[in-house]
Amino acid sequence: MTHFDAIIIGTGQAGPALARRLAQAGRKVAVVERGRFGGTCVNTGCTPTKTLIASAYAMHVARRSADYGFTIGGEVKVDMKRVKARKDYVAGLSNRGVEQSLRSLDNCTVYQGHARFCAPHAVEVCGELLNGEQIFINVGGRALAPEIPGLDRIDYLTNSSMMDVDFLPGHLLVLGGSYIGLEFGQMYRRFGSEVTIVEIGPRLISREDEDISRAVAHILTREGIGLRLNARCLSLSQRNGEVVMALDCVEGAPEVRGSHLLVAVGRRPNTDDLGLDRAGIRCDTRGYVEVDDELRTNVPGIWALGDCNGRGAFTHTSYNDFEIVAANLLDGQSRRTSDRIPAYALYTDPPLGRAGMTEAEVRRSGRRALVGKIAMEDVSRAFEKGEIEGFMKIVVDAESKQILGASFLGTSGDEAVHCVLDAMYARAPYTVLQQAVHIHPTVAEFIPTILGDLARLN
Ligand SMILES: Cc1cc2nc3c(=O)[nH]c(=O)nc-3n(C[C@H](O)[C@H](O)[C@H](O)COP(=O)(O)OP(=O)(O)OC[C@H]3O[C@@H](n4cnc5c(N)ncnc54)[C@H](O)[C@@H]3O)c2cc1C
Repeated sequence: MTHFDAIIIGTGQAGPALARRLAQAGRKVAVVERGRFGGTCVNTGCTPTKTLIASAYAMHVARRSADYGFTIGGEVKVDMKRVKARKDYVAGLSNRGVEQSLRSLDNCTVYQGHARFCAPHAVEVCGELLNGEQIFINVGGRALAPEIPGLDRIDYLTNSSMMDVDFLPGHLLVLGGSYIGLEFGQMYRRFGSEVTIVEIGPRLISREDEDISRAVAHILTREGIGLRLNARCLSLSQRNGEVVMALDCVEGAPEVRGSHLLVAVGRRPNTDDLGLDRAGIRCDTRGYVEVDDELRTNVPGIWALGDCNGRGAFTHTSYNDFEIVAANLLDGQSRRTSDRIPAYALYTDPPLGRAGMTEAEVRRSGRRALVGKIAMEDVSRAFEKGEIEGFMKIVVDAESKQILGASFLGTSGDEAVHCVLDAMYARAPYTVLQQAVHIHPTVAEFIPTILGDLARLN
């Protein structure tokens, strides 16, 4: 048995940074990775999808050449091999960067293989036993395979296998109208595929406000994406080289067919094959490791960071988990996950930038609130860019004047929303932001305008 001060399982967004801090502090560290270094974000999540989206966006703008006063000699056609090669290059840089930085780290031993607990502080990797005083679980998650009759008998795609696609699907069926499904759906529509998105609920991205869902649905259908809402997938089969999806629905055909199927109905944590029971580590019913506000599991000396603890589902939340654990263990601080304000983006075009509560959450909370909203067609920068879809909305507490949340669906919405997010972290009353002088012409310059024209939220 080899002894370490710290064992880190998984090299997602928290593990490598934590390994660096611990090793630099003189601890003897082991890092275990069973797949690709860098985890989901780097290899099958954020980095590759946003790189692919950049190609799709360029094609979209090229098709609108007449709007901008230039011509393109011929049809805009995708070369999927080159699109994939560009994606592989960008993602490969990060993947290799993570691996090299870990392998060259003093005090750090890298193991490549599947880690499994065999006792609270003992882990087995490729037949070798490692003992760790402290263990940090950063195993992330993977695409959920729903229990739909026939799914196990067809070739279907997930966010991971989509990374190997170097051809243009004739007709991509997307099961799931949430963040991942919408990003892939719009991307492939712009590459030139026919796309149909099938969603069981009555609207897309159901966690967002209804006006957001409606606007996103409008944007996607205008690009020619087929939406099947209120449609439950009953079964899947493959006939004559086509994927056939039988639907339980009130409106529309009871069957949709496509050349390929992407399943994007959610994620599940990679905790089922980790031997957690042998370490006595508690999980919830969905397999997420139970942690306290400082990310400690129920077993002393074992922490869980990133997607596998169910406290976040993003790269920035996983990285923040690292910051919390490192600050508490090495810097004598007392940081907590509950200090985090929910924030994320949906990378459709235009993107949706989100901070804090939705309007619906504010209503449910029962507090007195004010809301301000502006259409992107009234935002000069959006108009100048020829990207006028969407709107920006901010909700504030009527009594404390604290900003409660913002939803910016529009060009640069993913960036501009940070003005609001930072004011929320500063706990500044909205009047501070209302009186700020922003740069013209920017999308963010309209934040003071929105805050200067608030109405009661009924
Ligand atoms: C398609 C898609 C797009 C996304 N886009 C965004 C985005 O734009 N912005 C954003 O913030 N988030 C995005 N996300 C979410 C983001 O990728 C994740 O939240 C983030 O990667 C979580 O990181 P993590 O540290 O929890 O673990 P992961 O990055 O999932 O890494 C876990 C690592 O642990 C390894 N591992 C697992 N089990 C074991 C084991 N037993 N032994 C050894 N190693 C093991 C895995 O191989 C993996 O490398 C996206 C996700 C997907 C799927």
